[in-house]
Amino acid sequence: MSYKIITHEYDVVVVGAGGAGLRATLGMAAEGLNVACVTKVFPTRSHTVAAQGGVGAALGNMGDGDTWQYHMYDTVKGSDWLGDQDAIEYMCRHAKEAVIELEHFGVPFSRNEDGKIYQRAFGGHTIEQGKKMAKRACAAADRTGHAILHTLYQQCIKHKAEFYIEYIALDLLMEDGQCCGVVAWCLDDGSIHVFKSKIVVLATGGYGRAFFSCTSAHTCTGDGNAMVLRAGLPLEDMEFIQFHPTGIYGSGCLITEGARGEGGYLTNAAGERFMERYAPKARDLASRDVVSRAMTIEILEGRGVGEKKDHIYLHLHHIAPNTLHERLPGITETARIFAGVDVTKEPIPVLPTVHYNMGGIPTNYHGEVTIPDGPDAKKVVPGLMAIGEAACVSVHGANRLGTNSLLDLIVFGRAAAQRASALLKADSQKVNPGEGAINKILDRFDEIRHNNGTLKVGEARQNMQHTMQQHCAVFRTEDLLQQGLQKMTQQAQALRDLYVEDKSLIWNTNLVEALELHNLMAQSLVTLQSALSRKESRGAHARDDYPDRDDTNWMKHTYAWLGNENEVTLNYRAVNLKPLTDEVKSIPPQRRVY
Ligand SMILES: Cc1cc2nc3c(=O)[nH]c(=O)nc-3n(C[C@H](O)[C@H](O)[C@H](O)COP(=O)(O)OP(=O)(O)OC[C@H]3O[C@@H](n4cnc5c(N)ncnc54)[C@H](O)[C@@H]3O)c2cc1C
Repeated sequence: MSYKIITHEYDVVVVGAGGAGLRATLGMAAEGLNVACVTKVFPTRSHTVAAQGGVGAALGNMGDGDTWQYHMYDTVKGSDWLGDQDAIEYMCRHAKEAVIELEHFGVPFSRNEDGKIYQRAFGGHTIEQGKKMAKRACAAADRTGHAILHTLYQQCIKHKAEFYIEYIALDLLMEDGQCCGVVAWCLDDGSIHVFKSKIVVLATGGYGRAFFSCTSAHTCTGDGNAMVLRAGLPLEDMEFIQFHPTGIYGSGCLITEGARGEGGYLTNAAGERFMERYAPKARDLASRDVVSRAMTIEILEGRGVGEKKDHIYLHLHHIAPNTLHERLPGITETARIFAGVDVTKEPIPVLPTVHYNMGGIPTNYHGEVTIPDGPDAKKVVPGLMAIGEAACVSVHGANRLGTNSLLDLIVFGRAAAQRASALLKADSQKVNPGEGAINKILDRFDEIRHNNGTLKVGEARQNMQHTMQQHCAVFRTEDLLQQGLQKMTQQAQALRDLYVEDKSLIWNTNLVEALELHNLMAQSLVTLQSALSRKESRGAHARDDYPDRDDTNWMKHTYAWLGNENEVTLNYRAVNLKPLTDEVKSIPPQRRVY
C-alpha cells in the first residue's frame, strides 16, 4: 500500500455541507477562522435541499400570538419528555433571530399579505399548550430546504470559505482522547488528504439508508456517526427513528406534512377520516409517531387501501388549485411523477416511511461532543463537535416535531461557530496526530478496498436494509428485535467476505458504497441493541410488549458503544429536566392527550 498523501492545516475542519455544515462554515469564516469544509457531494446536493415544509420559529406573523415558550412546551411534549430542556430552551429562544438572519442572508421566504414571512401549521405545534394549532412553520413554498441551502452556500462563497468537494472523510484522527483532524479520500484524483485541525465539526447528516424504505437521499449513510463509534465514543438514543406518515407508496418520496397543514387529510378503505378516532383534537396534524402508528394499525387490521390493502390515501383535491400551485407546487409535481396522480382529482397513495434519526453523536447545546460522566452528567471530548441530524443535542428526544430539524441546523450551526471561535481565542494549542493514527485509518481503508470475498456490496446492503425494515420498524417486540440483532450480527460478520470488484482510486463508487455499508452496519447494530434494551414505549419507539411510557425507570438517554467484535455496550444518563433560565418552568411529564 502506498498512497499519495497531502497534508493540510486548519483551525477548524467541518465535515458536511448540508444546512448544518454550511451554517457553521459560514459563521466560522465570518469570525475570521481558518476553516475548511469537506463534503462527499456538491454542497447544494446535500439532503437538506429536499426539505419541504418549513423551519419552525415563533414569529407570530399570522396573528396567532405565538411565543417561544409555547414552542418550547410543544417541543418538550413532542420529544415525549426525553429532550434535554436546557437545549430545547436554547433552540426555541434563538429560533426567531436565526430565521430573521436567514431572511437577511437572502432566503426567498413566501410572504403573507403584510409582506412578512409566511407561516403554516405543522403537526404538534400549538398555541397555549395545545389550545389551538399554531402557524409556526416559516416556508419558502414547499422548497424551504432548497432555498436555505442555496442561500447559505452563496454566503459561504461570499465569505471566501474553502471547500473540498467530493472528498470522502474516512475517519477521525484521535490522540489521547482528543480529536486533532480527519483523513479524507479525494474521488477526483484518488489522493489521500490528512487534515490537521484544532477542531473537527461533524455535520454528516442522518443514516436513513439503513432501512429499505426511507425519504432520505442515497448519501444519508451516517458516516460521521460511524466514525465516532470507531473512535471508541458512544452514540446516543439510537433507538428513536422517526417514520414520516406520508412517504409515497412504492418510492418512499416525501409528501410534506405541510400538505396536511394546508388542509389535506387521510382516509382508509372505508373512506373514513380515521385520525378523528386516534387523535380527536389534532386529528391529521397529531405528531408523526401518532399518525404513523394509527396508519399502521389501520393497515394491520385490514382497512388499508389498494389491491393489497397495504397503504392509505392522502387527499388534497378539495384544496383550492391556486393554493396548491402557490404553497405546494413541489409535492404536486412529486405526486405526478412518483405516483402518477393528479392531486387536484385523486388521492395520493402513502405509507409511513423512515424519515429522521433523533439519535446520533451526543453533544451539549454549544455543539461540543460529550460522553456521559456519571448517571446525570456529561463531559466534553476535546477537539470534536457535531451538529445537525448527525448530532443528538438532545432537542428532539424520542420524537422530532416537523420543522424543528431545519431549525436545529441553523441554531446549532451558529452556536458551534460561536463556540469554536471562543475556544480558539482562549487556547490555540494544537495536538499533532502521530503516524500511528494516520496509518491505522489507511490500513482499514486498504483492507476494505482489497476485500476479495464473494458477497456483493449491493446484496449485503439489501440484506441489512430488509432486516432493519422488518425488525426495527413502527412496532417492535422483544422477539422481533432479538431476531433482528442476531441476523444483523451475522450480516456484520459476513462483511469479511465482501467483494469489492473495483480496486482503483478514482471515482470508485463500488468502494464508496462498501465504506458506506460498513458505516450503516455499525449504526444498525447499535440501533437494534438500544431498542431491544429500552423496555417501554416512548415517542417513536413503540414496543408492543411494553405499551406504556415508564417515567420511573426510563427517563434516561441511551448511550451505545460498539466493540471490535461487533458487541454493543450500553450506558444511560438521566434526562435534563432543568431549563437554562428560570424564565420558563421545567415541563413535567404527563400523559399525552391529542
Ligand atoms: C425529504 C425530506 C424532507 C424534509 N423536510 C423537512 C422540513 O420541511 N423541515 C425540517 O425541519 N426538516 C425536514 N427534514 C429533515 C431535515 O431536512 C434534515 O434532518 C436536515 O436537512 C439534515 O441536515 P444536515 O446538515 O444535518 O445533513 P445533510 O443535509 O444530510 O448533509 C450531510 C452532509 O454531509 C456530507 N457527508 C456525509 N458523509 C460524508 C463523508 N464521509 N465525507 C464527507 N462528507 C460527508 C454530505 O456530503 C452532506 O454535505 C426533511 C428531510 C427529508 C429527507
